[in-house]
Amino acid sequence: MKSLIAEKFHHVYGRSPEIVAYAPGRIEFIGNHTDYNGGTVLGAALDRGVWVAIAGRADGRRQFASDQRGAPVEVRAEDMAKRAGATSWVNYPLGVLAAMPGFGAKAPAGFDFLAMSNLPAGAGLSSSAAIELASALAFLEMAGERPPREIVVKIGKHAENNFVGVPCGILDQGVSGFGQKNRLVWIDCRGPVFETVPLPADAHFWIFNTHTKHALVDGLYAERHRECMAAAQALGVGLLVETDAAAVERDQARLTPEAFKRAKHIVDEIARVAESRSALARGDLAAVGRLLTASHRSSQFLFENSTAELDFLVDVLTATEHVFGARLTGGGFGGAVMAMTNGAFGEAQVQAVVAAYRARFGAAPDVLHTQTGDGATLL
Ligand code: ADP
Ligand code: MG
Repeated sequence: MKSLIAEKFHHVYGRSPEIVAYAPGRIEFIGNHTDYNGGTVLGAALDRGVWVAIAGRADGRRQFASDQRGAPVEVRAEDMAKRAGATSWVNYPLGVLAAMPGFGAKAPAGFDFLAMSNLPAGAGLSSSAAIELASALAFLEMAGERPPREIVVKIGKHAENNFVGVPCGILDQGVSGFGQKNRLVWIDCRGPVFETVPLPADAHFWIFNTHTKHALVDGLYAERHRECMAAAQALGVGLLVETDAAAVERDQARLTPEAFKRAKHIVDEIARVAESRSALARGDLAAVGRLLTASHRSSQFLFENSTAELDFLVDVLTATEHVFGARLTGGGFGGAVMAMTNGAFGEAQVQAVVAAYRARFGAAPDVLHTQTGDGATLL
């Protein structure tokens, strides 16, 4: 891939890149909406991602190109306004440049930039974190800085939160930054603390992207955030991570029926992350699969961030052979379901699931088979 992006870079800019960096996409394995509640989450870095190649320019000009977009876009160094429309993808690397000084690194002045990807964008696999982290590693290297991985992760998150304007938690960048092949990334979002845990062999991931998205998804996300904070307050804690299922049930009278369901989902989900970690350590993929499906049912009935399409996929997948478990992955209100399967799950099963979905909804989901991969790195 390094030689492929160098070739493409040469094609666009007529010279070779000086620095190439890579960062993977990720799946939210389990831990749904736990991040902003101070909880824990498990994620998997994928074997797909975004490559960024750059070379410095003495004239101070900044040019951005992507293999998924048209001609290079020039952005003047003094014009750091957020882009709209067709060139808005540039906000991801621009956001990284804007974030660097706050982390003690001087943003490089002039360069040619090229992004290349084998990760579907907008599919809930966090291509945004991948392009941010690959950009951050490349720009930091050009600036002569090699900060700890956690800083690279924070620069990416800062770009997404403050420049792009998406209030994502630490999961996306943390997993892209700390991922390892055949391991999952465990994050305690309060630190944040990052650890990795082995993923038993024979775990395969299949992503079923419905391409459906609730029209009000941003508002619904914010509403869930508010509901969780209000529930914490009613329960007398700062964040829901500080309480547990027994206390939530004991104090149910203090909560509205909605707030009770939201709080119960979060405390149960945090417990499921811990149980998943134990089951992974025992190599018990069947138990992990049951926890994944239980997580989905909790989203479906308690957190109410699922959709008919996602529920249908989980129903069909969990009734299909070779499937350990399935759940919506990411924020919900549309998007994708991930299934963890054994190696025998394949084309025949995929065709049956797709046919059932098509018969019900009239369209087919995109299906992607992926495995774990390594985290962000300079190449
Ligand atoms: P996700 O992170 O789930 O893929 P987002 O909407 O958060 O979805 O991020 C997708 C956006 O990231 C794209 O619309 C585009 O602006 C940007 N992006 C991702 N990968 C690339 C790429 N290879 N080239 C250009 N832009 C990209
Ligand atoms: Mg994203």
